[in-house]
Amino acid sequence: MKSELCFSETPAVSITITQAMAYLFCPRFTYFEECLGIPEHEETRFKVLMGREVHARKIKINPDYLRKRINVVRKAVSVYLASPTLQLRGIVDEVLWLADGTLAPLEYKFAEYRPFVFGTHRTQLCLQALLISEAFAAPVTRGYLVYVRSKNFLREVPFRPNDFHTARRAVQEVLRIIQSGRFPRQRGTAAQCADCCYRNLCV
Ligand code: SF4
Repeated sequence: MKSELCFSETPAVSITITQAMAYLFCPRFTYFEECLGIPEHEETRFKVLMGREVHARKIKINPDYLRKRINVVRKAVSVYLASPTLQLRGIVDEVLWLADGTLAPLEYKFAEYRPFVFGTHRTQLCLQALLISEAFAAPVTRGYLVYVRSKNFLREVPFRPNDFHTARRAVQEVLRIIQSGRFPRQRGTAAQCADCCYRNLCV
């Protein structure tokens, strides 16, 4: 999908938000994908396929109630952002300009609403927030998740100071694994490992 806005000063050494998400799922994903060059066969994964489908459709289903509920004064869709300073790049589903003068990322999830926010989703929003804040020189204090499988339920995610630390550290950890080529100690949970495409390689 073509970005509506593009801030594409792509840094020489950088990672994508997707790479950071893979690291957060399991650091060994980073090792297998980036150091050994063994791709994850995500085309076989139902949720990823459905996620892509939703991604393609979401502009059409994006509800007007956003403007009323959270005082959106402007928005941009599929915004590519890159930062040499943050060593990070990626596409944000939506960048929202809010009436209080702050900006916010909005991310669609092919998921049902849960009464908690997954750490990976929080960090994803934080990484987007860092890019948005730098690109538009404006404060970003919260993000939004839309749960497509719960009738587009909209959830606000206020950022805590430590969230930004966690997000920056994830970027640095991915770069460290790539540059050092060292096999990470940390492993996924038993449930993750049982469903992991790398389980036959991972000792
Ligand atoms: S098998 Fe487990 S530890 Fe190994 S890469 Fe997969 S999730 Fe991570």
